[in-house]
Amino acid sequence: MKYATFPKGGIHPHEHKQTAHLPIEHLPLPEQVVIPLGQHLGAPAHPLVKRGDRVKVGTRIGEAQGFISAHVHSSVSGKVLKVDEITDLSGYRRPAVFIQVEGDEWEEGIDRSPELVTTCDLSPQEIIERIKDAGIVGMGGAGFPTHVKLSIPPGKAIDTLIINGVECEPYLTADHRLMLEKTDEILVGIAIIRRALGEPRVFIGIEANKPDAIRVMKERVKEWEGLEVRPLKVKYPQGAEKQLIKALTGREVPSGKLPLDVGCVVSNVGTAHAVYRAVQKQMPLVERVVTVTGNDISRPGNFLVRVGTQVEWVLDQAGGLPEDAGKVVAGGPMMGKALPNLEVPVTKTTSGILVLPRKDVGPRSVEPCIRCAKCVQACPMGLEPYLLERLSARERWEEAEARGIVDCVECGSCAYICPASRPLLDYIRYGKTTVMMLRKKRSA
Ligand code: SF4
Ligand code: SF4
Repeated sequence: MKYATFPKGGIHPHEHKQTAHLPIEHLPLPEQVVIPLGQHLGAPAHPLVKRGDRVKVGTRIGEAQGFISAHVHSSVSGKVLKVDEITDLSGYRRPAVFIQVEGDEWEEGIDRSPELVTTCDLSPQEIIERIKDAGIVGMGGAGFPTHVKLSIPPGKAIDTLIINGVECEPYLTADHRLMLEKTDEILVGIAIIRRALGEPRVFIGIEANKPDAIRVMKERVKEWEGLEVRPLKVKYPQGAEKQLIKALTGREVPSGKLPLDVGCVVSNVGTAHAVYRAVQKQMPLVERVVTVTGNDISRPGNFLVRVGTQVEWVLDQAGGLPEDAGKVVAGGPMMGKALPNLEVPVTKTTSGILVLPRKDVGPRSVEPCIRCAKCVQACPMGLEPYLLERLSARERWEEAEARGIVDCVECGSCAYICPASRPLLDYIRYGKTTVMMLRKKRSA
C-alpha cells in the first residue's frame, strides 16, 4: 500500500520503539513535586499559593497571565513548601511551586470514574472555557495553550482539524499506547475539539509502523461522523506541523505563517485525551504518560506520571540511572533537550525521558564539510543547512535570514545525516534565535 507523506527531505532514523508493547503503568506518588509555573509557551502563570498553604489534586496554583498563557494546577495533595525559582529544561530560571505530598485527595467535582462520557452539548465558547480552566496545552511539542489555538481570530476559517498520532521521534511510545488504551476517550476529545472549531473535517494521521493503533482507531472511528484515520509513510519528521499538514492535505504553510492561515488546526492525540478529561470529567492537566527508555534502562515503560515529579524519582522507578549513562534527554533523541540535572520536573510537555549511554554521546570528531549535499536532501524545509551553519558561525545574519533560517523546524535531520558530523543544528539554532531577536527589534 502506498502511504501519503511530505514530499521534501526527511530521514529514517532507527526506531528503537522497544517500549511499544508495554501498557501504561501508574507510578506511585513521589514525596515531593516541583511544579513549574511556566510549562507552556507564553507568559508563566502567576502563583496563587504561598508557603504553608494546603492544596488538593486539581487546586489551581497558578493563574494564566496575558493572552498566551495557561493555568497551572497542583498534581498532588499536600503542603506548599515554597515558591521558588528552578532551572527548567531549557536551562532558564523559572518560578515553581514545591509541594510536600500528603495523601491523594482530589478537588471536588473532578470525575475520576472510568465511565466514558460521550455526549457534549456545550457551545464552542463553553468548551474553550473548560479547556482554559483545566490548563490544557499542546502535549506533543512546545506547549501552546490549547484554548488560544481553538480561539480562531475573525476573518480566518478552519476547514480541517488534523490529529497528530504520528510519534515519529525514535524511542517514544507514549502516544502509541494512549491510542491503544484510551481510544474512545481520545475520539470523544477529538469530537469536542471539532465542535469547538465549527465541525471541520478531521484527519487522524498515524504512521504505518503502528498497525495496531491504526486498526483500533479505524475500528472505533466508525462511530463518529467526520473523522477519518489516515495511515502515513514512516518518515521523520512527519509529526512536525508543516510536514503533517502537507502530507494530509497537500497544503503548504507559507514562511512566517501558521496552520490556521491554510485553514488547519493541528492537535496531538495526547492533547485530545486531555481535552476529553477537561471537558467531560472536569479534570485539569495534572498527569501525563511519559516513555522512560534507553538501551540500558532495566525497567523501561510508559508511565503515567504526575506533573512536577522529578526526573530522578521517575528514573528510580524504572530501575535507576544506568552506570554508563552519558546523557539524559527530555523527549526523543532528535528534538529532545538534554537535561541540565535530574532534579528537573516532568511537565505537561514531557513525552519521554531517554537515557543515552556514554559511548553514544561522547565528543565526535568534526570533519570539514565535504559538500556532499546530504544535509540539503534531508531538510524537510528545503533549506541549505551547510550554508546556514557557515553563515551563523560567521554571524552574517542578513544572509542567513535571506536564506530562510527562521523556517528551520529544528528537526535535526541535517545533523543526523551529515557524514562529517558537523554541528549543523547547534549553529542553525543559534542563528535562528539571533535573527528572530533582530526581527523583533526591527519591528519594535
Ligand atoms: S551533509 Fe555535512 S558534509 Fe555533506 S554538505 Fe552537509 S554539512 Fe557538508
Ligand atoms: S534542523 Fe532545520 S535545517 Fe536541519 S534539516 Fe531540520 S529544518 Fe532543515
